[in-house]
Amino acid sequence: MRALAFFRRHKGPLLSAALLLLLTALLLYAAARPDRHVIEADWDEERRTLCVQQTTLLTNRTGAALTALDFRLCGNAFSAQEGAPVSKERFSAAYPSGFSPGETRVRAAFVNGRKASWEWADEARTILRLHLPFSLRPQGGVEISLAYEVQLGENRLRTGVSARQARLCNLFALLCPHDGERFRHDAYGPIGDPFVTSTADWEVTLRAPTRLVAAGPGLQSVQDGVWRFSGRNLRDFALTLSADYCVAQGEAAGATVRSFAFTQESAERALAYACRALDIYAALFGDYPFPDFTVCAADLCAGGMEYPALALVGAELYEQAGGALEYAVAHEAAHQWWYAAVGSDQVLYPWQDEALAEYSALLYVEAAHGEAAFDALCAARLAPALEIPALQGVGVAQPLARFASEEVYDAVVYRRGAAMLHDVRGLLGDEAFFAALRQYFAQNRFAVAPPGALLKTFGADGAARALSWLRGETP
Ligand SMILES: [Zn+2]
Repeated sequence: MRALAFFRRHKGPLLSAALLLLLTALLLYAAARPDRHVIEADWDEERRTLCVQQTTLLTNRTGAALTALDFRLCGNAFSAQEGAPVSKERFSAAYPSGFSPGETRVRAAFVNGRKASWEWADEARTILRLHLPFSLRPQGGVEISLAYEVQLGENRLRTGVSARQARLCNLFALLCPHDGERFRHDAYGPIGDPFVTSTADWEVTLRAPTRLVAAGPGLQSVQDGVWRFSGRNLRDFALTLSADYCVAQGEAAGATVRSFAFTQESAERALAYACRALDIYAALFGDYPFPDFTVCAADLCAGGMEYPALALVGAELYEQAGGALEYAVAHEAAHQWWYAAVGSDQVLYPWQDEALAEYSALLYVEAAHGEAAFDALCAARLAPALEIPALQGVGVAQPLARFASEEVYDAVVYRRGAAMLHDVRGLLGDEAFFAALRQYFAQNRFAVAPPGALLKTFGADGAARALSWLRGETP
């Protein structure tokens, strides 16, 4: 009775306090709630077209109130020969049968279930601007639904189709990075991986002809040509499809590892390298961040390509003698720590994940094959990049836009970047250097880390040494 009397007397302030608590809890919940993409996709092999129904639940984490959302839909980057993200030198390898256009066609867009207006915000038609019928406050949530078709060109690039494979990569709509004032529209040029994305949970259902095998992260089930995948904390979602895939499966670093290649022997070999890499990196940097890892042979005109819990590795590397395949798998597996888990701005600071992935691949060689193999590889891969006269005084820290050739990009970002890390390791000693990398990983897992987050872990002397490489004062 006494409590009731107290409540009656103080009803107003008590209700206000309760309301305030509820609002705070809701805001905290919204801030912590991961973004989520639900994808229903149908692969039409004859038309080389993926029909996509994408529902995305987003929290506005830009810090600004928004009246429009800009999404990156990369498909139209491949619609015209001029502007396709491939260098002149690589064009004939990328399009062996001549140029073949790809296209993304948007059919409908909805915001919170109501039809919404949209437009292409750039000339290349790769930025879809969706107008909101309200102002979305910071930490506010919104549900976006998009219906679109992506037709793929015939090529040997990460987004495209070849005779025996479809690469459904960088296809889905992802929110553009935001600089606090506006959405960034980063150019999709021929050099590097110009993607800056935040992590989200994904549910992907793919319907494809039953003769095809789909390789993707987080496989949940497959039945009658319906493939279901799901994953948490993924910055993007990529898949490959082939009727010719052989599959091998194993376990490493607490994860299921799957390998898809065009012969069983190839699949087994890549699986062994992938498992070894995951075990080595987990011991060096911290636990592998996902429940599974998929490595798949891909008809690429060069190298490999990383995606969350997935790596494409150039099919030609499987044929080569020597350690090319092993090194490529080691490099792409390292991106699961540096890119997929610890994100970075790959447009402004491409060195941040690439130098780490390149140096990690060298660390793999050191752990797997010993110090002599490591030294030989450092001498073969890193030392020449330090001796190129034209690159003297060129810092490792260059944005993608500054690079005019892939050779220079490779020499500066990968090789000089890895040499920088090797130098910092020499200065700090192994114990402090690996403790720094473990700290960088643990503190920035599933975030987009600024370069300073890495430098900070090196301590004052290590950071000063790294900075002198980044600025071009060393070597
Ligand atoms: Zn890389």
